[in-house]
Amino acid sequence: MAADKRYDVIIIGTGAGGGTLAYHLAPSGKRILLLERGGYLPREKDNWDARAVFVESKYRANETWLDKDGNAFHPGVQYYVGGNTKVYGAALLRFREKDFGEVGHHGGVSPAWPMSYSDFEPYYTKAERLYHVHGQRGTDPTEGPASAPYSYPPVSHEPRIQELCDDFRRLGHHPFPLPLGILLDEEEGKALHNSACVRCPAFDGFPCLVNGKADAQVICVDPALEHSNVELLTGAYVERLETSPSGREVTNVVVRRKGAVEEYSADIVVVACGAINSAALLLRSANGKHPGGLANSSDVVGRHYMRHNCSAFMAISKDPNPTVFQKTLALNDFYFRSGDWEYPLGEIQMLGKTDGEMLKGEAPGWAIWKPEFVLDFMAEHSIDFWLQSEDLPHPGNRVTVNPDGQIVLSIQENNLEGHKRLKAKLEAMLTEIGLHDVLMPRSLYLGKNIPIGGTAHQAGTVRFGRDPKTSALDVNCKAHDLDNLYVVDASFFVSIAAVNPSLTIMANALRVGDHLLDRLGATGS
Ligand SMILES: Cc1cc2nc3c(=O)[nH]c(=O)nc-3n(C[C@H](O)[C@H](O)[C@H](O)COP(=O)(O)OP(=O)(O)OC[C@H]3O[C@@H](n4cnc5c(N)ncnc54)[C@H](O)[C@@H]3O)c2cc1C
Ligand code: SF4
Repeated sequence: MAADKRYDVIIIGTGAGGGTLAYHLAPSGKRILLLERGGYLPREKDNWDARAVFVESKYRANETWLDKDGNAFHPGVQYYVGGNTKVYGAALLRFREKDFGEVGHHGGVSPAWPMSYSDFEPYYTKAERLYHVHGQRGTDPTEGPASAPYSYPPVSHEPRIQELCDDFRRLGHHPFPLPLGILLDEEEGKALHNSACVRCPAFDGFPCLVNGKADAQVICVDPALEHSNVELLTGAYVERLETSPSGREVTNVVVRRKGAVEEYSADIVVVACGAINSAALLLRSANGKHPGGLANSSDVVGRHYMRHNCSAFMAISKDPNPTVFQKTLALNDFYFRSGDWEYPLGEIQMLGKTDGEMLKGEAPGWAIWKPEFVLDFMAEHSIDFWLQSEDLPHPGNRVTVNPDGQIVLSIQENNLEGHKRLKAKLEAMLTEIGLHDVLMPRSLYLGKNIPIGGTAHQAGTVRFGRDPKTSALDVNCKAHDLDNLYVVDASFFVSIAAVNPSLTIMANALRVGDHLLDRLGATGS
């Protein structure tokens, strides 16, 4: 292979995992190649247009996957520099201390991780600083110990959300400011003249037109590329990885770019394509030494897919909710149990403010018979919640690749009782604070479960562990079966907890980055 195609490190995928790792390794001076199937997300007015984003799905991958019965669906994935963080809601929370141990759920057991909270803690602190997480320690009763305060103050509540927060407190609950990765400097609820973020309504699910969101492109990939030893190829789809005859080393990274096949190689190859695409890449790379897929002697690759049990939930009030930036509050009082139940329920968060176009885009069953102006009215009067509970890692919930190379996602929902109870808790709280007095007739609460295409929180398909029989990666996220292959995205999760996944992906990328720097005899960020 020509010397110009040989690198010290190749990183495939530039999202929360790959982008963060690239940032950490960049100052090492090692030759690093980033391969990203997408391009830069175009900066244009449509970034903030709810119709373009939610109805036309303008920024979603133009791809079709199959469910276990062969039905096609359009997955909620985006292929860009920065990966899915280009559209994420940037709620960046740590797993709870107990989430790293075995936790009993109504639907089964959430297994223990091979490492503890204290192993991750220093990296959580670094990831929070790197991704400008705005939050306040000591306000979330379930949070673990932290070695440093947040570097940025919590994002302020607008009056209607402050009122909701006060009401929840009056009931004896412990709402807290949702930790957010955002480039916001504000005073009295207003963005300062030099703040990148302008506190607009287009936060959750939209790309940010003004680069105010702390996404992996803005925070990590762009700064990494300032180092001359780091290169990025966009439009570079990695088709397969080839190994040496012994099967112990990845020798070739086979890329399709601009219709042609190119090959690259490196001392260390890191896969960070997102949990579904990383599993698919390893499965596509099966060869004589790895007949069940690369790094898959354990047969776990593709299995244990998790994505959270989630609902978007609207309380419709008869008074308008004029909040612009709504995603500032969360509540973990039912995270591990409730007064009347001994099992975990999950987390309640605010969502970005719904508008009528989003409702039309999501086209829930009941919306089909609603005239558009009714949907607009409902959105203007809604207070919007995101409920998130843990689903459990079952081997049958899995990613496979069919003979045509198409991704097949098989899911059997599990552990739903806690989620049902979480919804009931929120309903009861809203009724208790008197919101029912201002609801439309019939106290209209609308819950919407996330269908199979809801792949936003995908995780667990290439799990890490100490036993090569039950895990594909070791504790450094190196494949047990190969000497130079790592996986550094949401794939390594053993369980998914009930908090959003990205901060744990970022912290882990920094942790694995330290291991790689040691291995390379170098220093990083
Ligand atoms: C609408 C939405 C809202 C979300 N909100 C939150 C939130 O508030 N908080 C939170 O923590 N998380 C949130 N998430 C989830 C978060 O975005 C993901 O957990 C995170 O981005 C996953 O990181 P990753 O590195 O595993 O994968 P990704 O960020 O998806 O990165 C994978 C990268 O690999 C590239 N790629 C894939 N296959 C190939 C290939 N074969 N060759 C080359 N490149 C490839 C992709 O283009 C992509 O750039 C949200 C996601 C969505 C969609
Ligand atoms: S709220 Fe801030 S970060 Fe979000 S889209 Fe608007 S300007 Fe960008």
